[in-house]
Amino acid sequence: MELNILTVCYLIGSVTFILGLKMLSNPATARRGNLIAAAGMTIAITGTIFLYKDDTGNKLHNYAWIFGGILIGGIIGTLAAKKVKMTAMPEMVSMFNGMGGACAALISIVEFSHIGNNVVPGSHKLLLPEGGQGIILIILLGVIIGSISFAGSMIAWGKLNGKVKDFSFKGQHLFNIAILLVILGLATYLIGWTPANATIIFFLVFALSLLYGIFFVFPIGGADMPVVISLLNSFTGVAAACGGFLYNNKVMLTGGILVGAAGTLLTILMCKAMNRSLTNVLIGSFGGGAKAGPLGKKEQGSYKEISISDAAVVMSYAHKVFIVPGYGLAVAQAQHACHELEKLLEEKGVEVKYAIHPVAGRMPGHMNVLLAEADVSYEKLLEMEQANEEFPGTDVVLILGANDVVNPAAKHDPSSPIYGMPILDVELAKTVIVNKRSMKPGYAGIENELFYRPKTSMLFGDAKKVLQDLIGEIKNL
Ligand code: NDP
Repeated sequence: MELNILTVCYLIGSVTFILGLKMLSNPATARRGNLIAAAGMTIAITGTIFLYKDDTGNKLHNYAWIFGGILIGGIIGTLAAKKVKMTAMPEMVSMFNGMGGACAALISIVEFSHIGNNVVPGSHKLLLPEGGQGIILIILLGVIIGSISFAGSMIAWGKLNGKVKDFSFKGQHLFNIAILLVILGLATYLIGWTPANATIIFFLVFALSLLYGIFFVFPIGGADMPVVISLLNSFTGVAAACGGFLYNNKVMLTGGILVGAAGTLLTILMCKAMNRSLTNVLIGSFGGGAKAGPLGKKEQGSYKEISISDAAVVMSYAHKVFIVPGYGLAVAQAQHACHELEKLLEEKGVEVKYAIHPVAGRMPGHMNVLLAEADVSYEKLLEMEQANEEFPGTDVVLILGANDVVNPAAKHDPSSPIYGMPILDVELAKTVIVNKRSMKPGYAGIENELFYRPKTSMLFGDAKKVLQDLIGEIKNL
């Protein structure tokens, strides 16, 4: 009877994960979807703690450790999530993802310790548990993928908050491939031969996987981080699914597979959006190797500025205005002011739309989440391809704290670290107004020739303050 209740708990958990994931695909339902999935997870965990019985009928008994862990982790997680600034959210997501990978790797280490010390008497082979080599395969997959995800996510966390710089050396791709081959070779040996000294080999695989995770993310440059972040996310899912296999736990398996599949699909979409190949992502050999090209250093000539009042007039008398949000909009927390400007312009008969680049901001979907927070209608958000088609019929493009995603160097400078990344072709519009605080570069650390083009005018200042001033000015027109 108890087992049946546990099965029902797992079923509820699995269904809520699927529902939650579906709801996360739309900003209007995302918050609710998150809560529903979290409730399902709570049911699944509580059920496991109180109802689970092993093959011999024993229930879990080490409650002090379990609840101690839940309490400490819960407090740290809650405080971190409450304190985090919106702009530091991507770093936190990366850190939490890394913790998931670490958990999966630890599960494998614990499970291997049950096998690694048992040797067939009088032989040099391990005494295999029921499930034989299959169990060792799953344990190895868990430790390899989990460790890569943990180490890679920690480096990604450091890169996103600026503490870790891009690092690469000549032949790094070959070095990465070599580590990967050694890991696979050792794993194959362990599974195929099950030698008595398996523990040493197992921990060597663990250490090399951590090393691979570090060197895999180290060289990833500016524009390519989003792809790596979604890939690491899918790794954590797959590693957790390995834990589900090991414990024959259906809900852990479902959760892991869902995260793994969603992360993989997102990675493929990101690769397409960034014009990168998945193989190159896997061996950590794209983007970052290139340093800022000659354009980065070239004398760009002069740029022109526009005043708030002139910008207000240009936009008020336009037929169609596109807003291009970027990381700076999130820094300034200017999404509400942005929505207010949109409504004001529409009252004056101007058509207003938003052009969303797939990697604008610092995490996949960052701009969608930010604008949804300010109740901007989802229909107004146009994806890059669609926006590029509409720019030729647009009077004004207002760029708010975006930089790399509108940098034309991506189209024609092969030495640029963002070369090959599709961009928003804002120059196809009649006028471009760029709001940022200075002439400093964006995430990729390179200059932007767009700012020096004849069509472009710079509107300097913090995005929120500039938008509020613009609103005030337009109201008085
Ligand atoms: P960028 O980082 O290229 O540029 C942001 C600009 O915002 C800066 O040039 C900055 O200029 C300006 N800014 C900062 N604060 C303010 C403020 N308060 N008010 C007004 N402007 C401000 O951002 P994009 O969105 O164009 O591009 C995203 C970049 O981040 C890409 O290179 C992408 O690959 C990378 N990335 C994206 C991830 C994702 O998943 N989306 C993940 C990791 C990296 P100034 O200092 O002069 O104000």
